[in-house]
Amino acid sequence: MTAPTRPPPSSQALAWATVAWRKHLGEPHVVLDRDVVDPAEIATFATEHRVAAILRPGRRAEVQACLRVATAHEVPVYPVSRGANWGYGSRVPTSHGAVLLDLSRMERVVDVDLVLGTLTVEPGVTFADVEERLRGTGWMLPSPGSSPGASVVGNTVDGGVCDGLVPLRRRAVLEVEVVTPDGEVLRTGLGAFPDARARGAHPGVGPDLTGLFLQSNLGVVTRMTIALQRVPPRQAAVHLQLYDDARLPGLVDAVRIVLRDGLIEGSVTFYDEIRLLAMTTRYPYGEVGGATPLPEAWLAEVREALGGSRWIVEASVRSTDGARLDSARRTLIEALTPWADRVDFAADAPTPQFTPRAPAHRRDRVLA
Ligand SMILES: Cc1cc2nc3c(=O)[nH]c(=O)nc-3n(C[C@H](O)[C@H](O)[C@H](O)COP(=O)(O)OP(=O)(O)OC[C@H]3O[C@@H](n4cnc5c(N)ncnc54)[C@H](O)[C@@H]3O)c2cc1C
Repeated sequence: MTAPTRPPPSSQALAWATVAWRKHLGEPHVVLDRDVVDPAEIATFATEHRVAAILRPGRRAEVQACLRVATAHEVPVYPVSRGANWGYGSRVPTSHGAVLLDLSRMERVVDVDLVLGTLTVEPGVTFADVEERLRGTGWMLPSPGSSPGASVVGNTVDGGVCDGLVPLRRRAVLEVEVVTPDGEVLRTGLGAFPDARARGAHPGVGPDLTGLFLQSNLGVVTRMTIALQRVPPRQAAVHLQLYDDARLPGLVDAVRIVLRDGLIEGSVTFYDEIRLLAMTTRYPYGEVGGATPLPEAWLAEVREALGGSRWIVEASVRSTDGARLDSARRTLIEALTPWADRVDFAADAPTPQFTPRAPAHRRDRVLA
């Protein structure tokens, strides 16, 4: 929400703003206790940005009040939905002395449409919450590679990527509700019309403003409607291995053609040993005697443990039935075998989550 070069607020501005925030949120939700605030200043990299306070609004009206007060007193605000942005700054604000607007108390699943496959959530709703809610419905929302405790809204506004048919999460966004710095509420898509019966139908009418609020600092997203994905009846994971860096460009080109022709749907992920380490462990300071970056000899050992692979590539094929899946598998082996040193398929099986029956309820709605 703030430019990196912005100066910190004066202590007097902060004091006046704190009085006002306490009035709107109640004292327990304006956190100044350093035992609670200090951990929010820790990222996975060195940073000196301090956090002045943590504000914990529980409703949109409280977000509006927080922003009005902050703007009036010129206090920079950094919003987080769940604050699980590890590797990209965690919860640390982009400017020194900002207040952290922690939206994790706003955790309502507002609407699930099991016919059209749409989901409307507040910022505190996590991927784990959504998985729990959708289990057995035939719909899903893939989690990011980081944590099921991450926020659907946070991950999406930050340009998140995932497995599945729509790897770029921003492409699945149908509507957002945003509080602007002056405390006004703006809704994009058909959600902007109070009585619209086709809410969620993308992209509504006229210019679509949704993109303005993705990876920007123009407002705080307080609600988002996102398209769900149908759980495929059958799917099989494809693993490719490459032992030689020099062959990578050829494999990338072959994968592009396969994607272009729709043989693989959704995302394809390339892992080298560094990416695998980042996903599975902390930086092994002890094992490498504090050296940075990781010594080549140590990485060579990791590669050996991976069976000599320089690159591991993962994708999946999906289909409505086993025969079609077999045919897609054969075509893929033909297309990729000349470029990869090894092509393996995990045994396909009916997807456990898939239930072909019609949903019992047309809508499962919690009114806001
Ligand atoms: C090993 C590892 C693997 C990872 N794998 C993936 C992956 O596969 N896919 C992926 O996408 N990410 C991945 N990440 C990155 C990150 O963990 C996720 O993107 C995570 O979803 C971010 O946390 P969050 O959802 O709680 O968002 P937050 O931390 O709450 O916010 C993320 C950003 O969005 C802004 N923001 C948050 N909420 C709002 C709001 N309501 N209004 C306006 N702005 C807001 C914040 O200011 C912040 O800049 C990975 C990280 C690690 C360390």
